[in-house]
Amino acid sequence: MKLKRIAVEEAFVTEEIAQEWKKVLASKFVEPGFRMMGQTILGDDPGAALVHSRLLDIGAGRLAQMDADGIDVAVLSITSPGVQVFDAVTATRLAYEANDVLAAAARAHPTRLAGLAAVAPHYPQGAAQELERAANNLGMKGFLINSHTMGEYLDDQKFWPIFEAAQALDMPLYLHPREPAPSMVAPFMDYGLYFAGFGFAVETSLHAMRLIMCGLFDQFPRLKIVLGHMGEGLPFWLQRIDNRYLLQVKIGAVRKLPRLPSEYFRDNFVISTSGVMSAPALKLSLEVLGEDRIMFAADYPYESVQEGVEFLDTVDITEAQRQKIYCGNAERIFRLNPSDTVQVLS
Ligand code: CA
Repeated sequence: MKLKRIAVEEAFVTEEIAQEWKKVLASKFVEPGFRMMGQTILGDDPGAALVHSRLLDIGAGRLAQMDADGIDVAVLSITSPGVQVFDAVTATRLAYEANDVLAAAARAHPTRLAGLAAVAPHYPQGAAQELERAANNLGMKGFLINSHTMGEYLDDQKFWPIFEAAQALDMPLYLHPREPAPSMVAPFMDYGLYFAGFGFAVETSLHAMRLIMCGLFDQFPRLKIVLGHMGEGLPFWLQRIDNRYLLQVKIGAVRKLPRLPSEYFRDNFVISTSGVMSAPALKLSLEVLGEDRIMFAADYPYESVQEGVEFLDTVDITEAQRQKIYCGNAERIFRLNPSDTVQVLS
């Protein structure tokens, strides 16, 4: 039987967002991590130019590449850091426009492309409204936030209207990485440690732990959060996180939650493989989280899709596990089956 391959963390950008990034990068107020990132994503070298042209294409070129790579369905989202480096008004407008562009692409190729909406977290009420539009009018399957927004994390209750809407609409949040927040980025700047191999995972796993420890999932128990990159390392840490949390509770250093940190992680989080081609990492994640909570992602155009596909095609797991990771879990979590698709109004 031919495997259907669904890739859930596939990036694009609009020309308008890329132009606005250039303005931010030229300003003296640019965040240090984003300044470094700018050289990678908007640099003049041929590699950066190729990535940029691939990000802009969510039409014929994207589909041809998916055909060549053996990807059946791509779940697209605005690449990091998205609109989160703009002022709230600009960010809200550009997220709205980008969501229209993405929805049009998905409408044009409904069996090949699906979308995760962009929102401007720093205007929480507007983000909640945009989620409603994305779910009900645009047929989006979830939304994506690139970790911190100007150094702020979503555990702050001012952001919770976003989670209230997400739970009510059953829209999963893909918590995607970006470089560490300005308050902690300095020691990451040497040796390139701010970047995707390490700093991104530190930043994003910290963000996920803040969401767990603040009690978010007691308030919104049906929230679904997706982490890329094999859970940003957290499946490896869960036993120790629980163990030291219990000690901290015992000595009165932290507030006791109704459940263990690992229990929230297992119930409210799912992970994707994006960019991790490691059999030990996948097997540990399967053992810790089970085969229903892991999805495939290629992380196009940043990673080699061929490498990701070859890894999951050949890694020593059961065929049932391979099917769930490639397709079954994504169809369930993002409601990708045509019969489950919400009525698109526009
Ligand atoms: Ca990515």
